[in-house]
Amino acid sequence: MLKSKTFVKKTRSGGVMKIVREHYLRDDIWCGSEACTECKQESTVLQKDACIESNLCSYPHYLIPDTNVVLHQIDVLEDPMIRNVIILQTVLQEVRHRSAPVYKRLKDIIHEKEKHFYTFTNEHRRETFIEREPGESANDRNDRAIRVAAKWYSQHLKMFESDTDGLKVVLLTNDQGNKQKAEESDLLVYADIIVHRLLAVAIGADSTYPDLMDKHKQSALCNNLNYRHKMAQYAQRASVAFHTQLFFKSRGILNEEGFVLFVRKNAIIVLIPKFGLEGTVFFDGKDKTAPNLVYDEEGPTLTIEQHTFHIFDKVKVTISLDDSNIQHQKIRMALIDPVISGVSVPAPDVGPQAKKPKLDQ
Ligand SMILES: [Zn+2]
Repeated sequence: MLKSKTFVKKTRSGGVMKIVREHYLRDDIWCGSEACTECKQESTVLQKDACIESNLCSYPHYLIPDTNVVLHQIDVLEDPMIRNVIILQTVLQEVRHRSAPVYKRLKDIIHEKEKHFYTFTNEHRRETFIEREPGESANDRNDRAIRVAAKWYSQHLKMFESDTDGLKVVLLTNDQGNKQKAEESDLLVYADIIVHRLLAVAIGADSTYPDLMDKHKQSALCNNLNYRHKMAQYAQRASVAFHTQLFFKSRGILNEEGFVLFVRKNAIIVLIPKFGLEGTVFFDGKDKTAPNLVYDEEGPTLTIEQHTFHIFDKVKVTISLDDSNIQHQKIRMALIDPVISGVSVPAPDVGPQAKKPKLDQ
């Protein structure tokens, strides 16, 4: 079956080009497993008795690493102990784009017969090819393609269950979102740094305690790790916000040069290079009578009365700490330049209060 995709692309010279991509979907792409009696393959790569000499998994299994696991655990994958691994075409392509050295090492492993690494061209098999959905990023699409292919393998191998001691596939991922979505579709998944630990145990480079081999305890452990990681991030952000406020507290109202980073429907987001500070200048404040705002998504631009803001425009703003609500102190920015009547504020007097810290240094 031939699928073709047509889209238009803007060229550098400003013209428009029509691009047609052809993509062949086939039914004769085989699973590569010795255990399989369905696929019409002449030779196989993946062993029927795919047990590694460790207590990691009690049943025979094939590993399917996602792109990040390949990029970060290539040393482990190279270990002679790790065999019977399915490298999806999606993963191979992503690795090729992201790291030439890792790609080279992966290709070398695939060529080693005794490693039993099988490349599965999932992007061309009818059941495992997926189209990118509207609003889906290329990354998310690839993660989904990996899950779909892993799921296909899982179902495919189920047909030979009685003959193979329950041969399974195990998806290896560091990505929490990918893990969750894969679990929803009933795949066996290991997440986070646990992947590294388990791989290390598998090759005998590390030992571990029985609890880590328990699927439910492992899941609880992962949840706890992720929770603590999230809380640490919140604490980090709160700390940055707190110290920024502390810094501006003693400085009164400042008058600084900045650049427009983004334009929104009712505001511009300004970067002040001097402080590495980002802030928002709102144009529909409660106390002001709302000016005439026209937002153009295409630009994107925001026109306020007679003035149009573009990304990277140079502006001048005031920076001050609004401590009117002691519970929610905020850094406020207001526009000085360009001057828009009824919107911009006059430049503050740079009085002794603002200069003092400089003299102290
Ligand atoms: Zn098969």
